[in-house]
Amino acid sequence: QFDTRAIQHLDSAHYLHPFTDFKDLRGRGARVIVRGEGIYIWDSEGNKILDAMSGLWCVNAGYGRTRIADAVYRQMQTLPFYNSFFNTTNVPAVQLATRLSQLAPPGFERVFFTGSGSEANDTNLRIVRRYWDLMGYTGRHVVISRHNAYHGSTVAAASLGGMAGMHAQGGLPIPGIEHIVQPNWYESGQGLSEEEFGLQAAQALETKIREIGADKVAAFIAEPIQGAGGVIIPPSTYWPEIQRICRKYDILLIADEVISGFGRLGAWFGSTALGIEPDLITFAKGVTSGYVPMGGVLVGQRVGEVLVEQGGEFAHGFTYSGHPVACAAALENLAIMEEEKLPAQVANDTGPYLKERFAQLQDHPLVGYANSFGFVAGLNLVQAKGRTPHDNRSFAPARQVGMTCRAHMFNNGVVMRAVGDRMIVAPPLIMTKADIDEMLARIRQSLDDTLAELQKE
Ligand code: PMP
Repeated sequence: QFDTRAIQHLDSAHYLHPFTDFKDLRGRGARVIVRGEGIYIWDSEGNKILDAMSGLWCVNAGYGRTRIADAVYRQMQTLPFYNSFFNTTNVPAVQLATRLSQLAPPGFERVFFTGSGSEANDTNLRIVRRYWDLMGYTGRHVVISRHNAYHGSTVAAASLGGMAGMHAQGGLPIPGIEHIVQPNWYESGQGLSEEEFGLQAAQALETKIREIGADKVAAFIAEPIQGAGGVIIPPSTYWPEIQRICRKYDILLIADEVISGFGRLGAWFGSTALGIEPDLITFAKGVTSGYVPMGGVLVGQRVGEVLVEQGGEFAHGFTYSGHPVACAAALENLAIMEEEKLPAQVANDTGPYLKERFAQLQDHPLVGYANSFGFVAGLNLVQAKGRTPHDNRSFAPARQVGMTCRAHMFNNGVVMRAVGDRMIVAPPLIMTKADIDEMLARIRQSLDDTLAELQKE
């Protein structure tokens, strides 16, 4: 048991929290999470909370895995760190690179390790530009992404992302990065079937490539299913059309699988689950179930051969590339996920159940649309402004209510993320059907409480 007396007067004034209005934490401070076990976390006041966000789409194998802790401890005692810069390496890094190439889609034989997903996407930007330089097309440097996408928080990764709020601060995006529409049928597909809208949203890529000139475009980057922007599940027509356009104009395709990877979409990689054939794959989070920081890029055949055979030195790397402790944690985490067959469980059993149960939330007066794929799910709360043609709800609050709803979720012992008026879950992959029922009961209660509060206004 955690002794909460020691932290009763914890002062978080010195800690600048990510993506936080610092003023919000003045006085009362942040909620302190002190322990995790299975699918639950506990805060310093003893509240037990069902973690429907897996930390931050990380803790795929759940909390409290002593096997990972033991592997980390053993590695720390044997070799806590050594660099990979002096033609040196370490045992877990080599083993993990091999393991990842076995789990990845065919052709992904090479891995570049980083310390985070943001660093991995920066690395991707450097790799695709270097690829075209080595191929003799030195002007081919533009990367196309999507509005409202999230690809990390370094200057380059935030530029690759398409979040208006991030771009409004500090003069982003940097030059050489362009954005197209996201495939958000519920909010933008007025008058179109999902299939028609999917094609149209994908064809925005072709329009953009023609506008810029194909000889200037290095790559297109996207998540198989857009996560942090609000769990936007593309229509079935979207990815085949994107793939056709990339092939037609010979544009490299980067799949950002920081969220989609490691079982979340019911396969080791989301590209496999959705039938996408990328040239590069970004990973992070789930590779270690978040127990230690790690990220990286899986490099496919086409790019890998040029980088290795023609490249000479790739002037790029991080102190923590291939960190032995992180790699040891990843190996143990992947072993657990494999032994417990977590990706297959999500694909065949719990994922379909979550889909069925989550869609039932659409009968709630506050919910306009609810959808899921594997173990990511999102719902749109209805609102007066921005009401869509698909939305026939009778109740429509006049302001954004996502944050109010998130507060009620915490009160009812469940974590959901709010992105504007879109509520998201990404539960640990170990959830059983009974856990899903419990999660849905807590979510429904929180929606009721939110509605009751709004009706009082
Ligand atoms: N890409 C995606 C799709 C992400 O969701 C995130 C993190 N939320 C990142 C990149 C950045 O990863 P990190 O926070 O490890 O830098």
